[in-house]
Amino acid sequence: MYDCIIIGAGPAGMMAASAASDLGKSVLLIEKNKMAGRKLRITGKGRCNVTNAADAQSLMRNINENGRFLFSALSAFDSDDTIAFFEGLGVPLKTERGGRVFPQSDKATDVAEAMYNKVLADGCKFVRDEVSDILTENGCICGIRLASGKEISAKSVIIATGGLSYPLTGSTGDGYRMAKLLGHSITAPRAALVPIETKEMWPSEMQGLSLKNVKLTLKCEDKSLFSEQGEMLFTHFGISGPLCLSASCHIKDLEKEYTIEIDLKPALDEKTLDARLLKDFSKYINRDFINALDDLLPAKMIPVFVSLSGIDPRRKVNEITRQERQMICSLLKNMRLSVKALRPIDEAIITAGGINVKEINPSTMESKLVPGLYFAGEVIDVSAYTGGYNLQIAFSTGYLAGCSC
Ligand SMILES: Cc1cc2nc3c(=O)[nH]c(=O)nc-3n(C[C@H](O)[C@H](O)[C@H](O)COP(=O)(O)OP(=O)(O)OC[C@H]3O[C@@H](n4cnc5c(N)ncnc54)[C@H](O)[C@@H]3O)c2cc1C
Repeated sequence: MYDCIIIGAGPAGMMAASAASDLGKSVLLIEKNKMAGRKLRITGKGRCNVTNAADAQSLMRNINENGRFLFSALSAFDSDDTIAFFEGLGVPLKTERGGRVFPQSDKATDVAEAMYNKVLADGCKFVRDEVSDILTENGCICGIRLASGKEISAKSVIIATGGLSYPLTGSTGDGYRMAKLLGHSITAPRAALVPIETKEMWPSEMQGLSLKNVKLTLKCEDKSLFSEQGEMLFTHFGISGPLCLSASCHIKDLEKEYTIEIDLKPALDEKTLDARLLKDFSKYINRDFINALDDLLPAKMIPVFVSLSGIDPRRKVNEITRQERQMICSLLKNMRLSVKALRPIDEAIITAGGINVKEINPSTMESKLVPGLYFAGEVIDVSAYTGGYNLQIAFSTGYLAGCSC
């Protein structure tokens, strides 16, 4: 009989195991993969953006689904605690642009190994196996059943099985199924922080081109849903990169029309931009239009931009009218794309949706329906933008569930 069985050795499960073991509890951590923290090892392009050094307010602003539910968890274990936790385990960290915190080694495996070793050193038992069911007696938790049929008793169980994205890392939605069988409702899981397919084909002509300091605005039927400045990337199917991943969190109903507006020159208003164009055009006065944009746009974008402008590429710059210049300015300020689809959930950084937060006590992460059942991490209906926030959610909810169970 264990005090606590934790299903899933991702960042949430390992943090829960660490917190419960630190309190002297007997803990069994069960992971169906060969190794713990398989997804954690590929985070941040293999560098692992462990958390964000932002203050609590900024942290809340970056959580786009059920931030208020996370208030207690984030207070119990915040980004300072995450930083102290890993530095205490001998993983020195560094803070980069936008408060993003990474291991100094730039190796996500260092983060995963440090967590795994701590859990083992704490005396927690780690087993490689797959949990198929959670067992109850008189409505209370009493243990789990493994896929082999073997049953193990426990006073409490923490579901930390993750979502549905990148299923090869082990997150295949098992936690949703187990929670549903125990009476929990699930907000339909959907891809979030995922690249966007566009109806237009022209992004593919700029495949691989990354833009910095552009402003991206997502609109749904003319209502602005998201607008931010940063980086984006053109791909063979449409667009990706940090801005597009964040915007994707707001695309919830593809029956509706979503448009994306890219402001290529957010620092310049139309008047200043026109003056800049005039300057460039007088510099290249005898050139063709297509050869006069080198100072303004990346080379890969120029043919696409000229084609979208509808102006003959071979037109001499000195022949371009004021009206045409205005049109060029508006195109620079507003390159429009229409959303066709999101890429599949397999390619999503996170899964939005999950266990309904109304059925979880936010102060303990315990189920309000089944005493002794707890939740941690991405399996819960919470989600945030990129920047280290999703791992912070996993650590905070894992810590709180581990302490409470
Ligand atoms: C490519 C990529 C890059 C990312 N980069 C970042 C980043 O830099 N910063 C950031 O904040 N977030 C990042 N994220 C998001 C972050 O990785 C997740 O939010 C986080 O891993 C969720 O943690 P978790 O413990 O809830 O779930 P997971 O990490 O998915 O772990 C769940 C574990 O449960 C196990 N499991 C599932 N079912 C069972 C079962 N039946 N029996 C036993 N074990 C089971 C799985 O095998 C898995 O190991 C990234 C995600 C991806 C895909």
